[in-house]
Amino acid sequence: MPLFVLFDTRLVSRIISTIVGDPEFVILRQFRDLQDADLAKSALESADFECYLRDDMTIGMNWGWSYALGGVKLLVRKEDVDGARQLLDQIPTGFNVEGVGEYKQPRCPQCQSLTIFFEGLGGRQRHCQSCGHAWEESDDGSSQKTP
Ligand SMILES: [Zn+2]
Repeated sequence: MPLFVLFDTRLVSRIISTIVGDPEFVILRQFRDLQDADLAKSALESADFECYLRDDMTIGMNWGWSYALGGVKLLVRKEDVDGARQLLDQIPTGFNVEGVGEYKQPRCPQCQSLTIFFEGLGGRQRHCQSCGHAWEESDDGSSQKTP
């Protein structure tokens, strides 16, 4: 079986564009999170805009590179920039899918309740809805009482 049937032309042109750059395409937006980028891309595709992501594979492998590379870039055709931007402006952004990968359900260390709120920058602050206990989750998953 010939190998080329595994690739469709869009994928091939996407790979070429990623490597050499494509003067017909410009960066419409940059995303820190792959999920947001994917969401925007599928929204554009469903409206028949031609688009692709750059650096998504690299960043998918190593989140730390997202900052170094300037995030995942969403590219569209030059002539589609205005229309694509208008479309994306109508989509609510900034939500993240909680629980991607390994996720430990946090418990209140005081009353063992699972009804926990996440607060603060980086989402480290925890707040128990049941008993009102507040604490900070550390990297190893243990709990520390907030001073
Ligand atoms: Zn509690």
